[in-house]
Amino acid sequence: MDNCLFCDIISGKIPSTKVYEDEEILAFKDINPMAPVHILIIPKNHIDGADKLNDDNSAIVSKIFSVAARLAEEYHLDKGFRIVTNSGDDGGQTVRHLHFHLLGGAKLNTTLC
Ligand code: 5GP
Ligand code: ZN
Repeated sequence: MDNCLFCDIISGKIPSTKVYEDEEILAFKDINPMAPVHILIIPKNHIDGADKLNDDNSAIVSKIFSVAARLAEEYHLDKGFRIVTNSGDDGGQTVRHLHFHLLGGAKLNTTLC
């Protein structure tokens, strides 16, 4: 996908600190961490956002959650963590490539919005 920041991170055009990668998924550190552990987990196939998930492309979401659990263990988030996805302008999505924030390493604010 042209003009997509996260597609450019996947291709290596834009550098990132990768923490997990397989054929379908990439995880890397958020450039502006909101918690001691703040990792972005994304599908390598471009999907605009959660609003564009459907029966044909949503299997990747369960794989992403498996990677999240694996990373949570690796980063010792045994006291808990949060997985967030923002969708669209009202949801606060700033990068239009589906991504899941894995947040942890401290007691997180409990307000949902
Ligand atoms: P959103 O606001 O769309 O839910 O999340 C986008 C996230 O991407 C933000 O947390 C932001 O800090 C992160 N981000 C934006 N640009 C870059 C970048 O160039 N590199 C990395 N690693 N993260 C980025
Ligand atoms: Zn993309």
